[in-house]
Amino acid sequence: MSRPILAYIDQAALKHNLSITRQYAPNTHIMAVIKANAYGHGLIHTAHALKNADGFALLELEAAIDLRTAGYNHPILLLEGFFSMRELALFEKYRLSAVIHHDAQVEMLSQCQHRGLHIFLKINTGMNRLGFPVEYFSTVFEKLSCNPAIADITVMSHFATADEAKGNDNFKQQLHLFNRITQTSTLSQHAQNSGRHHSLANSAAIIRYPETHRNWVRPGLMLYGASPFADQSAIDLGLEPAMTLTSRIIAIQHLKKGDKVGYGCSFRTDKPMRIGIVACGYADGYPRHAPTGTPVLINNRKYRLVGRVSMDMLAVDITEAADIQLNSQVILWGKGLPVEEIAHYAGTISYELLCAVSKRVKIVVNQERRKNAD
Ligand SMILES: *Cc1c(COP(=O)(O)O)cnc(C)c1O
Repeated sequence: MSRPILAYIDQAALKHNLSITRQYAPNTHIMAVIKANAYGHGLIHTAHALKNADGFALLELEAAIDLRTAGYNHPILLLEGFFSMRELALFEKYRLSAVIHHDAQVEMLSQCQHRGLHIFLKINTGMNRLGFPVEYFSTVFEKLSCNPAIADITVMSHFATADEAKGNDNFKQQLHLFNRITQTSTLSQHAQNSGRHHSLANSAAIIRYPETHRNWVRPGLMLYGASPFADQSAIDLGLEPAMTLTSRIIAIQHLKKGDKVGYGCSFRTDKPMRIGIVACGYADGYPRHAPTGTPVLINNRKYRLVGRVSMDMLAVDITEAADIQLNSQVILWGKGLPVEEIAHYAGTISYELLCAVSKRVKIVVNQERRKNAD
């Protein structure tokens, strides 16, 4: 038998979350964000479950080519565009769309002989990560509008605080800037068929700000069934977790009062205790910073992690649970234990935990919801 840690991916949950996304944003196209190996869920079977999306977005060129080669005919958007002329040639070959966010890319486009490229022109409205400055936007837009390589331009931006307090100042300022520059008169003259398409919203904006939906929304996290908000759970939002990370108890220790557990002896028993050792550690993607008290789910009940998470194992207090034995299944997060809860204990966000699930964790795909299976 091999190591018992598995990530179950529920394709029915992915489909469900896509349909919930459509309910939040009924009058727009959905660009399903599947970067970082589909947030740790695995690229191709996630794309398969989400094939009713209108497009896919990611950053990894090889993964985009894999997707096209696997037969997906959707628009595929590369969120950082291309980095060289050699890559740009692959965009033509595989019909990939590119985010254009700096001058070097505009320069490469001016040298390119292709036709029919679809681009997303990114404006920096205040996140200050990628994108052209607002002041320079109409110049670069005009330049690209005259470039025969380019078939159409969607204007995009990205919010830094859509997940924070509703209507926060930074969010309002970013949206206001975006609206101001996309409504300038020079732009509309050149924008008969192009430049009127806008894309702004990530998961948080899809849920909270319908005025940002425009033509393309870009949901990531919500498709995987996690909440982007600190004050609203995935269940409140109607989402279902798509990944359940499970493992098993591979050893049980019977300890006396005063015994210690794990590296650094950071946990000491204050009474005789029974400790289950679970085959899951930080090399699997479980956060090392999850402290004593972080919940794990066994037989539908929560137990507390104790001591330090090590590379391959973690320890759980099962003193009160006679039903837990060697080989009992343990849920680290997913169905019955939201990943947000673990992220909260570990001082991080669910995005990081999902993406961090490592290669050595086998992915098992549940194709059909088990409706009347019992
Ligand atoms: C990752 C990403 C998204 C998706 O964000 P979520 O918060 O996961 O919905 C959308 N747009 C861009 C540009 C991104 O990089």
